[in-house]
Amino acid sequence: MAENVQSIEGVQAEALSALDNIESSEALTTWRSQYLGNKGVIRGMLSKIGSLAKEERGAYGQGVNALKNKLTESHDEKQTALNNAAVEKDIAEGAIDVTLPGRARRVGRLHPSTHTLRNFYDIWSDMGFQVYRSRDVELDDYNFTKLNFPPDHPARDMQDTFYTTEKDVILRTHTSPGQIRAMEELGGNGTKPIRVILPGMCYRFEQITPRSEAQFHQVEGLAIGRNIRMSDLKGTIAEFAKRMFKPDVQVRYRASYFPFTEPSMEVDAECFLCDGEGCRVCKYSGWLEIAGSGMVHPNVLRNGGYDPSEWSGFAFGMGPERITMLKHGIEDIRYFWSNDLRFLSQF
Ligand SMILES: [Zn+2]
Repeated sequence: MAENVQSIEGVQAEALSALDNIESSEALTTWRSQYLGNKGVIRGMLSKIGSLAKEERGAYGQGVNALKNKLTESHDEKQTALNNAAVEKDIAEGAIDVTLPGRARRVGRLHPSTHTLRNFYDIWSDMGFQVYRSRDVELDDYNFTKLNFPPDHPARDMQDTFYTTEKDVILRTHTSPGQIRAMEELGGNGTKPIRVILPGMCYRFEQITPRSEAQFHQVEGLAIGRNIRMSDLKGTIAEFAKRMFKPDVQVRYRASYFPFTEPSMEVDAECFLCDGEGCRVCKYSGWLEIAGSGMVHPNVLRNGGYDPSEWSGFAFGMGPERITMLKHGIEDIRYFWSNDLRFLSQF
């Protein structure tokens, strides 16, 4: 055997006897790097295999590997023994009181908006709507122009929109641009029907007050097909309200205006807190506004690749935070993103 190669038996005897004398975890760490570390004895032995005669190499290599396993095992045993000894010492000295009851682990909860969103997904998927996720960062064109916003529409005001340093790239102010994206991606150039909901975060450059936040969720809905009528929209929303609030809830529709639907309607549900009797939450009207909706504007259908003389559709939009606030009597929307556990742990 070459002279500069250490004998396996010699190293093992020396290492194990050193290990026997160790009484602290610091010394064990030093021992570990001395024998098993990157620059340790075992590595050194393996690196010298090349200096052996060819017929000796195999047996020596195997021997070193067996030694490495043996030392690793002995190290782990020693570590366990040291840990146990430390705990026993602590108990003996009274540093650990094993009779103390355990501390309960804090269990996380779902955010109240997530609760409401999941509730929405359950209801809409039961009714045949798929979830379509559109982008948060949008082109001005999709957020406004393709949705039939006239060039001078107040929603285009710099005051309301978060612009980026990139020209025409903005944070979406509503989930409606997803309508165009869904038509483009799922519509097969205006040949296929669509039934989707589009949930997502929206962003507005607004003063943050108890009533308005700079970010909030919307859930948009879109159905496109042949012969889709206003009655389909009304029936669909009424069915949603029944499943969301209560089976005999009354729903009413009020004429409204949105650039991307014609005609447009606001949807109110009978106040589920006072059964329509009138209370503080419904401002004594007996009704709560739950959605905006309407028939998809022919220009929007065209922009999504559909021929409005053959295809029609309806769309609606809802605010999960608003509905959560109504349901739980939450009076300040700022609670939703302020990460206050006193608020969040109630849900
Ligand atoms: Zn009420």
